[in-house]
Amino acid sequence: MTLKLTGSIDIKNIMRHSHPHGTIEVICGSMFSGKTEELLRRVKRAQIARQKVQVFKPTIDNRYSVDHVESHNANRIPSIVVEKAEDILSFIDDKTRVVGIDEAQFFSDGIISVAQKLADRGIHVIVAGLDMDYLSQPFGPMPQLMAIAENVTKLSAVCVVCGGTASRTQKTFSAKNGSGILAVGGREMYEARCRACHDPEFLESRAVQTTMNC
Ligand code: ADP
Ligand code: MG
Ligand code: ZN
Repeated sequence: MTLKLTGSIDIKNIMRHSHPHGTIEVICGSMFSGKTEELLRRVKRAQIARQKVQVFKPTIDNRYSVDHVESHNANRIPSIVVEKAEDILSFIDDKTRVVGIDEAQFFSDGIISVAQKLADRGIHVIVAGLDMDYLSQPFGPMPQLMAIAENVTKLSAVCVVCGGTASRTQKTFSAKNGSGILAVGGREMYEARCRACHDPEFLESRAVQTTMNC
């Protein structure tokens, strides 16, 4: 028996049903909020379900390991390091069902269409990244990724000053390991703080103090 297709709607429906659903999940929050741990947890669950997983991170983040995504707790998983967001597409294996992306804030806006393309192909995309920079401004492509995602998880850390819920990242050092929004560092450069304890002008006021003292 031959199946008669009577219009474009039928073709679209058939295509939709023959294609597994892809989704985008975003895990965001301040530094130390557990974004990488949560990404690894979800990736490991997919591996237990025998789904092929590929994990990516940008070249800029080589704090702990060049070829692994690693949390502050030293929990880690092998990853592919890419310079540009678009490079991710050329690494995707036909069998891949889940794609994890860490430190997504460091990618260009190109990461938004990459995530869309992967999800449209039926891939489950899990993106982790800082929602805000140390000045409490939305970070890179994260706001758009959060907008297009099916699911967003916002995590918090513990404020190192008052023990409250930390939603912000405090920069504590400027000169030693680079400066600017993209200065990559860990505990030696940043700490988790709540809204009340966070002081984006801390470095500027220290610079003024140093100038006044000399
Ligand atoms: P992120 O990727 O969000 O920077 P990680 O997943 O790498 O965070 O690390 C989270 C871990 O960091 C926590 O499980 C905890 O052991 C540790 N940690 C260190 N400082 C803090 C803090 N101020 N608040 C919460 N966790 C912290
Ligand atoms: Mg992390
Ligand atoms: Zn606080």
